[in-house]
Amino acid sequence: MKRTKTTEIIVERDEFYVVQHSAAPVALWCEACGGETQFAYPIAAALATQTPARTLFRQAEAGLIHFTETPEGLLLFCLKSLGQRNEPLVAAEGGQEP
Ligand SMILES: [Zn+2]
Repeated sequence: MKRTKTTEIIVERDEFYVVQHSAAPVALWCEACGGETQFAYPIAAALATQTPARTLFRQAEAGLIHFTETPEGLLLFCLKSLGQRNEPLVAAEGGQEP
């Protein structure tokens, strides 16, 4: 009688991708401002203004804040227009510390 031996090999593979952009603002030409201004990625703009990114997207769609898109389709917000909204831009440095 022929015996068959079965070996089961389980391969687990985890892939982890980190897509990160610099939080530093980028100097770009803003058509709406008519000059070169600083642009920030949504997460950086949201943190700087303490405004949910979703709100910033809505405000951009409504034309309240200026934005541009990279060739890859990433959105950048004009910091100058963000500073002209009702809520003041929160300074990145010199925050209130006890
Ligand atoms: Zn602008």
